[in-house]
Amino acid sequence: MEIYLDANATTPVLAQARAAAMAAMADDFGNPSSVHSTGLKARALMDAVRARARRVLGAPNGQLLFLSGATEGIQTAVLSALHALRGAHSGGGTRPELLLYGATEHKAVPEALKHWNALLGLDLQVLAIPVGRDGRHDLAWLREHAPRAGLVCTMAANNETGVISDLDGIAAALAGTTALWMVDGVQALGKLPLRLADRRIDYAPFSGHKLYAPKGIGLLYVREGAPFTPLLAGGGQEGSLRSGTENMSGIAALGAVLAALEDGQSFRDAATLEAYRQRLAEELQRAFPGLVFNAPPELSLPTTLNFSVPGVSSRLLLDLFDAADMRMSGGSACSASKAQPSFVLEAMGLPEWQTASAVRLSFGPATEAAFIDEACARIRDCGESLRDSCLNPALQRQAAPAEGLTRFVVEGACCYLLADAASARCVIVDPLPELVERLAQWVRCQGYTLAAVLQTHGASAAGVAELCDAELGLPIEPGAVDALGWPQGVEQVTIGSRWLTRVSRPHGAVSYLVHDGSGVPMAFTGETTDAMAFEHAVNADTLLLPARDDDERFARTLRSERAAATGVTKASRELGVDALQAMLRAHPDLLLVDVREPYEQRLSQWPDLGVPVKTQAVPLSGLLDALPGWLALPPEVPVLFFCRSGNRSAQAARALHRLGHAQAWSLAGGLALWPRPLGLAA
Ligand code: PLP
Repeated sequence: MEIYLDANATTPVLAQARAAAMAAMADDFGNPSSVHSTGLKARALMDAVRARARRVLGAPNGQLLFLSGATEGIQTAVLSALHALRGAHSGGGTRPELLLYGATEHKAVPEALKHWNALLGLDLQVLAIPVGRDGRHDLAWLREHAPRAGLVCTMAANNETGVISDLDGIAAALAGTTALWMVDGVQALGKLPLRLADRRIDYAPFSGHKLYAPKGIGLLYVREGAPFTPLLAGGGQEGSLRSGTENMSGIAALGAVLAALEDGQSFRDAATLEAYRQRLAEELQRAFPGLVFNAPPELSLPTTLNFSVPGVSSRLLLDLFDAADMRMSGGSACSASKAQPSFVLEAMGLPEWQTASAVRLSFGPATEAAFIDEACARIRDCGESLRDSCLNPALQRQAAPAEGLTRFVVEGACCYLLADAASARCVIVDPLPELVERLAQWVRCQGYTLAAVLQTHGASAAGVAELCDAELGLPIEPGAVDALGWPQGVEQVTIGSRWLTRVSRPHGAVSYLVHDGSGVPMAFTGETTDAMAFEHAVNADTLLLPARDDDERFARTLRSERAAATGVTKASRELGVDALQAMLRAHPDLLLVDVREPYEQRLSQWPDLGVPVKTQAVPLSGLLDALPGWLALPPEVPVLFFCRSGNRSAQAARALHRLGHAQAWSLAGGLALWPRPLGLAA
């Protein structure tokens, strides 16, 4: 069962809302502008939903328009206000100088302000209202600037942190000014009493899909007497304020949600939601010692938690939760390799580590207790899994002893860790400053002896020695190692049954060869990209491991480089369901490889291909160790990689294919897109 904890992004559609939408599509499908009976029925439905919305929002007067969602509502409100400001100016009135918006506002607000300000040629100054550490607007700042403002935009509750704005405080700060006021009510709908008419709010946009209605339906409240300019002109629907035939299935569904809100049957009250959140918060703190919450719970929606775990990136946590079939989101936009810090948390002045590693958990007000029970159980499992992987600095429990080669990549730069479980020794090659803490944590947790920290080039060698001394606690005596970290006076560094030797490269750079009883299985080549430069030091299948891998090759070999000279195919290595079925029929000896990290693998099931196949779990970070085994397979045996989204498995398939195994494939779209069980029986 999927545990969906990303309700602030969107929600599933409530059963009664689905039924209402279906009825509006199949039976009562009329156009509310038609004068015949079918149309009249549709109009009656629309009027009834609008009346309900007025009750729920506390807005007996003013306009309440149906439109496509909050982004359209925000555009309409901003256009209306700015058009009126332009008119006031050309009429000789005093012109305001500022357009203000809360620093943690949804992007739709500042972008709309800038867009319409430029398009209407107003050239007003667009300024962010600062927020405090608690995420709330700086009211003193607002009081000072509001007299010069034409429009002030503040959200009712924040989508990332759940922080609830002090609307009465804002209203007081605006008292006596002529500024128009827009309140983005998206995250408050169904969770907070808004009392629109009791406050001097001029515009308030809402979105159906944040509260169990479908996407594509929203509401805009416009106070009686507030300036209005239609965004869409046309057939004159919605009293000519918003043209275009109404989205009747969306309106019907929204009506069912509002009805559920009014009857109180489907939605939990604030105390129950608060108790749910408390349970989740306690479970998270137990599972991830050191975890901090990024917003004060007493000022936040009872359905939202935003947290960070020291030393654990939000990307890693999201992958971990996703593996346990729990959906949450980054408090920030995560690109494939690096999380962007959250601008919301930055605006609150939180430390960099918190802004870059935040995770948002949010649930809807229709959540049942059994769902929270299951969520808590999965959070416990996730904590256990991370603990066993030596990844949480607050946990020093011994994990399964690590063995072999692990690769870390930071924006194309590679760092390697070679470990030997039997002798409990390891060596690090080309440590990156971004990884020092994580490597230190890993070495401490494993309890291994760090035999050496080696550099292949001198770019940051001095810095590395310092870092290692301070962070890793390495006993590096001054003069005991050379500038690149090699221990003085020794010819080789031993790691169990393997040993490293040095090869000098031009300009003071060094490469390191790794030997075992049978030859040189790998070499850390540093910045030298020309594999042929190693022709005399290594054999045809030695994995040549670079200090940078911008094109995600993982490794080169002399054999693969020679073959590349005769041409390499760039065709996709992805298999869709039909191709996979055909491949399974032709090759029952297919090898299925899970390239997710161990903390993800522990939490989830293998895909069911419908027929028994050989399987192997090799995280992408440990791919290099497994490559020789796959390269030694008969050429016709397919190796099929899979992961969560298809990205990591595609990298693995390309790498193996480039090294010479023609039958290297990845599962297109990853587990996320595959039906479970896959049901691929021939
Ligand atoms: N405002 C807030 C606070 C939101 O959370 C969102 C959606 O993420 C929007 C506006 C935009 O809403 P819509 O998706 O309906 O355009």
